[in-house]
Amino acid sequence: MSSRTEPGGEQVFDGLGVAPGIAIGPAHVVEPGMARVPEYPIPRTRIDAELVRFAAAVADSSEQIRRLQRKAGDLSGAAGEELGYLLQAYQQMLSGSRLIRGVETHIRERAINAEAAVNAEVRHIGRDFAAMTDPYIAARMADIRDVGARLIRNLRAAGTGDTIGELPSGAVLIADELSPADTAAIDPAQVGGFATVFGGPESHTAIMARSLGLPAVLGVAGLINRVRAGQTVIVDGGQGRVVIDPSPATVAAYEARQAALRVEQRGLQRLRKLPAETRDGTRITLQANVELPSELAMARRVGAEGIGLLRSEFAFMNRDTLPSENEQLAALSALVQGMDGQPVTIRTLDVGGEKLAHALDEHFADTANPALGLRAIRLSLQQRPLFETQLAAILRVGATAPVRILLPMVTSVSEVRQARAAVTRVARRLKRRGVAIADPLPPVGVMIETPAAALAADGLAFESDFFSIGTNDLTMYTLAIDRSNEQVAHLYDPLHPAVLRLIQFATEAALRARIDVALCGEMAGDQRYTALLLGMGLRELSMAATSLPRIKRRIRNMRLEAAVRCTQAIMQQPDPARVSALLDEFNKG
Ligand code: PEP
Ligand code: MG
Repeated sequence: MSSRTEPGGEQVFDGLGVAPGIAIGPAHVVEPGMARVPEYPIPRTRIDAELVRFAAAVADSSEQIRRLQRKAGDLSGAAGEELGYLLQAYQQMLSGSRLIRGVETHIRERAINAEAAVNAEVRHIGRDFAAMTDPYIAARMADIRDVGARLIRNLRAAGTGDTIGELPSGAVLIADELSPADTAAIDPAQVGGFATVFGGPESHTAIMARSLGLPAVLGVAGLINRVRAGQTVIVDGGQGRVVIDPSPATVAAYEARQAALRVEQRGLQRLRKLPAETRDGTRITLQANVELPSELAMARRVGAEGIGLLRSEFAFMNRDTLPSENEQLAALSALVQGMDGQPVTIRTLDVGGEKLAHALDEHFADTANPALGLRAIRLSLQQRPLFETQLAAILRVGATAPVRILLPMVTSVSEVRQARAAVTRVARRLKRRGVAIADPLPPVGVMIETPAAALAADGLAFESDFFSIGTNDLTMYTLAIDRSNEQVAHLYDPLHPAVLRLIQFATEAALRARIDVALCGEMAGDQRYTALLLGMGLRELSMAATSLPRIKRRIRNMRLEAAVRCTQAIMQQPDPARVSALLDEFNKG
C-alpha cells in the first residue's frame, strides 16, 4: 500500500478497494481504535481529567448493572437468583476493587488513556489468575473481563462526542478500523463511504460495505494521521484509492465517473424482471445475502429470488444483553415477511472469530486464535439455551413462510446430528406449548466453509438437506490466510487450485446425493468468477444484493457450454497465476 503527494498538494493513498463506487465528501475522523483498544500517552497535566473520565465510565457501568439487577429481580427461581449474585459481584468489582485501583494506578503512573489502562489491568489480573487452576477462579476471571469490556464500551461511548451518529451529510468516515458492529451502525443515507487503516478484503466490515452499497477502501497505511476533519476526501472503492484535498480537476474527473456509474446502474435496473439465464438456456437462481434488515429493500429492488444467506448476527450486535426468543422472532419475521413468500435461509449464530456480540464477550476474551476457537456451531452446541432460543424463533417464523436452517462452520457429521436433534427437541417443546411452528420442519443445511467439511462433503451430504459453500472462510482456512488481515491480503486467493478443488468436490458430492447446493461466499458476487462457478455445476448463487444485477448481466451474456470448457482447462492448472490468466482471457472473449 503506498501514498504520495501530488504537485497541487492532494495526497493519494492506495489500499484495498473492497466495495465499489465513488464517494466525495467531508472527512469525518472516527475516534482512533473504535474497535481495537488503543493505547496512547496522555500529557501529565491531563491525568486528573483522565481519572475523571474513567470515574464517569465506572458510574455509567454501575448504573447499567443496577438496571440489570432490577430486571433480574423480576425473574423467578434459581436462574434469577444466580443472575442476582453475579450482578452483585459485578457491582462490587466497580467499587474500590483491585480492578478499579489498578486502572487508576496505570493512568497515574504510566500516563496512558483509560481504555488502555483497563485493558492492561484485566490482562494483569488474568496473568495472576492463570497460575491457579480452580474452576471457581476461572469463572471469576470471566466476570472481570466482562466488567472490563463494559468499562471500555462506556469510555468509548462517552468518547470525544465524535461518534458515527452525528455527521455532516455525505461524510466520508476515516478510521483506524471499523468493526462489523461499527459498520452496522452506519446510516448509508448519511455516510458517503469510508476508508480505514486496518481490515482485509473479505472481512465482515468489507462485506457489509458492499451490502450497504458504501464505497470503501481498507488497509490504507498511514491514513489516520494525514487527514483532518472536514477536509474533502475521495474514496474510490473500485480502484482502492483515497485522495485527500483533491484538486478541482481531480474532483471533476471523479464526478464524471460517478455520473457514468449512475448511468450503468439505470441500465442494470432494467434487468430486474428478466431471468438469470445463460444464452444457451440454463436458468440460475440468484439470491441475496442479508446481514442487516436495512438491506431488505435493496434485495427486493434487484429482484432477488429469496435470501440465500441471512447472517443472524445482526440481532445480537450493538447490545449488552442477549435477544429473547420473542425479540428474535420479531426481527426474523420482519425480514421473512418482507420477502413476500420467497425462501429465506437463516444461518444460526456465527459469532467468534472477528464477529463479536458484546453479550457473549465472556466466551471469547483473550483467545489466541479466535478463528480456530469457539466459533459458530461450536458455540451453539456448547451454549444450548442460546442455540435453542434461536431455533425456537426460527421454527416459529417458519410457520408463516418458507425458511431453511443453515449451520455455520461445521466440520463433522456429529455436529449436524446434534443440531438436528436440537431442532427436533425444540419443535416438540413448542408444540407442547401449543405454539405454531413450521410443518414439516425446515430443511437443515450445512455451510461448507472449512476444508474438513469440503473433504467430508460426501458424508455430510447424507446428513444434510442442502449445502451452502462459504468461500470466504473456505479460502481463509485452506490457505491459512486471515481474511481480515490487510498484511496478508495479497495472499488471499480464492482461485488457488486447493480452494477450487474443494469447491468442486463439495459441489459434486451434493449433486451426486441430489441435495441443493448454493455458493454464498463473496465469490458469488464477483462477475470475474461467474463462469467458473457455473462451469463447476453450481446453479444457485447468493450474494450482496448490490452485486446481483451485474452477475445477472454476466450470466445472460454467457454460454454455459463455453464456461464448462473454460472450467475444465482451469481445473488442470496447478498455478494460481495461470488460473487467473485463463479466467481473464475467457471473460474478455
Ligand atoms: C463464508 O465464509 O463464505 C460466508 C458466507 O460466511 P461469513 O462470510 O459470514 O463468514
Ligand atoms: Mg463463513
